[in-house]
Amino acid sequence: MTTQGTDPEQLSLPKIVVPPHPVWPELNEKETRALKDRIKKLLKEQNGVLVAHYYTSGALQDLAEETGGCVADSLEMARFGTEHKAETLVVAGVRFMGETSKILNNEKRVLMPDLAATCSLDEGCPHELFSSFCDKYPDYTVVVYANTSAEVKARSDWVVTSGIALPIIKHLAEKGEKILWGPDKHLGRYVQKLSGAEMIFWPGSCVVHEEFRSVALERLKKLHPEAAVLVHPESTEAVIELADVVGSTTALIKAVTDMPNREFIVATDAGIFNKMRQLAPGKILMEAPTVGEGATCQSCANCPWMGMNSLQNLEEVLKTGKNEIKVSSELALKARIPIRRMLDFAKTMQKNN
Ligand code: SF4
Repeated sequence: MTTQGTDPEQLSLPKIVVPPHPVWPELNEKETRALKDRIKKLLKEQNGVLVAHYYTSGALQDLAEETGGCVADSLEMARFGTEHKAETLVVAGVRFMGETSKILNNEKRVLMPDLAATCSLDEGCPHELFSSFCDKYPDYTVVVYANTSAEVKARSDWVVTSGIALPIIKHLAEKGEKILWGPDKHLGRYVQKLSGAEMIFWPGSCVVHEEFRSVALERLKKLHPEAAVLVHPESTEAVIELADVVGSTTALIKAVTDMPNREFIVATDAGIFNKMRQLAPGKILMEAPTVGEGATCQSCANCPWMGMNSLQNLEEVLKTGKNEIKVSSELALKARIPIRRMLDFAKTMQKNN
């Protein structure tokens, strides 16, 4: 039997307040270069490394690479932080990414440009509520997406990222385990469809990916019949159905470089275009339409929380040491178990491929 839908008792989730997209003072080339040089010096002095997500600004992504850091999805960011020798990890991304780094590297200092940079999935999954939801299903294996707080991770059996969710769910389904999935319902339904696993879902969603619109996407596809449609699985089912490729940020970037198509319509945060353009400069990239088409969109394919990271506040945290991520060692110990499970699974998968 496959259980669809959310808790019948209807959870009352907190209302997500989406902040306006931050606007940073424009810098000319000379000012940007000077700022980057100051940051490079600070990173060196503090034995720090910059780990940036694909959804942050192009300037931050470029700086991470220029300074020996990394630009990656959340799985790779976590892995990179554990393997790098730096004493300070500066995480340009959203809060759960900084927390994951701290959980895995409790002895290291983890700084973030802005601690208010959160995520609608994390915000929409308060740990007390999630924990009582789990208590109602004691015979279910709890699998949570990485976009959750340290407390929610500590309550789970497995943590997954979008890149590894499907193989892990398939693995659990093969063992006959029933799965309680949280918090992204769209990604959950997507992996359920492909794995046939018995799952129940926490009803969370990403405000950015939920704004892509299938009807407008169909229209755009008609105008560009040769374009491949690339969709992140946090999007709605109707949008996923129109995709040629569904996958994590890393998988979508790989599709742009590997597929023979010249044109691509991309349904994920527009920050990803920086890496896509770098790796496939000859390709034509188009943003998939959001609610913004003829109406008001909240994010317009630009995550407002990711936008809270800039060169300016990065310099500020390195100068002041503020915005340090703290996770108690007791909590880190608990939350590390399901994250490690995922990393070990990923390692075994890599070895077998
Ligand atoms: S894009 Fe969505 S899932 Fe990613 S950080 Fe922003 S709100 Fe969270």
